[in-house]
Amino acid sequence: MTTNTETISFFSLALDRQPGLVSRKKTSIRRGMLLGGTPPGWNVLALSQNDFYQYCDQAAIKLHEITIECHGVYLVCNGRPYIFISDKLRGAEKTFVCFHEIGHFWLHKPGDQFSADGKRPSRWANAIEIEADIVAVCAMIPLTVLKRHRPGEIADLYGYAPELVRLRQEVFDCWQI
Ligand SMILES: [Zn+2]
Repeated sequence: MTTNTETISFFSLALDRQPGLVSRKKTSIRRGMLLGGTPPGWNVLALSQNDFYQYCDQAAIKLHEITIECHGVYLVCNGRPYIFISDKLRGAEKTFVCFHEIGHFWLHKPGDQFSADGKRPSRWANAIEIEADIVAVCAMIPLTVLKRHRPGEIADLYGYAPELVRLRQEVFDCWQI
């Protein structure tokens, strides 16, 4: 069971990778690449766990829900994409992690986090995780929903933690996505 406290700390974790609005704003994300690389329904329809499964099927992503230490992993092995999701996750947390990982599939080439020599972090190393978070939160709370409802209504309507709605608002304020 997912308690409310766990939900709050989970989304705070996502937020805290780049704490605060100001430092987030300083991180350049590849806005055009993000908007161009995501599928047509993204940020238009409120996507669900089932939509995620369909995207995985369509793209022949091998999905495994297993016992792992982290929330989720995306990797490419022999040219085949894999997503691993922790079997401990439930509800909105799980959906967030699923869309975060498929966000890497949509946007990021393997090795994007490293510079050409394969050793140092690339100039996009910080942006990569934020971009995947943006994919996740906008999948769950598209702009159409954000524009139509107040934050409290969105939380009630979809059963989301207020932190998730706050993260969504922050993404809009920073990058107009
Ligand atoms: Zn990630």
